[in-house]
Amino acid sequence: MRLILLGAPGAGKGTQGVRLADHYGVAHVASGDILREHVAEGTPLGKRVAAYVAEGELVPDDLVLAVIGRAVVAAMETGGYLLDGFPRTLAQAKQAYAAATQGDIAADAVLFLDVPDEVAVERLVDRSATSGRSDDASIDVIRHRLEVFHSQTYPLLDFYRQDGRLVTIDAGAPPDEVFDGIVRTLDERLGA
Ligand code: AMP
Repeated sequence: MRLILLGAPGAGKGTQGVRLADHYGVAHVASGDILREHVAEGTPLGKRVAAYVAEGELVPDDLVLAVIGRAVVAAMETGGYLLDGFPRTLAQAKQAYAAATQGDIAADAVLFLDVPDEVAVERLVDRSATSGRSDDASIDVIRHRLEVFHSQTYPLLDFYRQDGRLVTIDAGAPPDEVFDGIVRTLDERLGA
């Protein structure tokens, strides 16, 4: 199974990503987690991306593409991938699609976890108490991340809608319900 999870910060990509990857037995590739690991370890990449992450800005495409490309190739050893947080710009989506098509590993479906902004903000504010994430610490950065989602990532929905792979999920429901809904929908569409 090869899946892409799209959604605003706070939509539940991380929560559903872990569960779906486990359910389908594929690697969970979370671009934010990978970038935060680099920051925590102080790698050269980590030093270049730390400020973007802390301010809620997107990391430049070339830096993300290199690191995620490697992670996806490694994930294919598990027979597929669950991409969480990547792609986030049209340029990333187009380059990833070109590379994946060449290797015959394009995603089977793209799941859009749809939540109202105010639900997302509420969840992120709750999460800030325990996440320890630099970009959860301020309401201004939280709101900025939502703006970035609307301006840079939202246009991807049309890109995936056009090729028939987009599946929209109501992600405002409790996590168990969202998970069951996703699995049911994928079973119907892909016979998974
Ligand atoms: P996330 O954990 O998915 O919410 O991502 C946290 C932060 O990592 C984002 O706000 C960006 O700064 C950076 N990031 C994660 N994925 C990407 C991506 N695909 N493109 C650019 N920046 C990213």
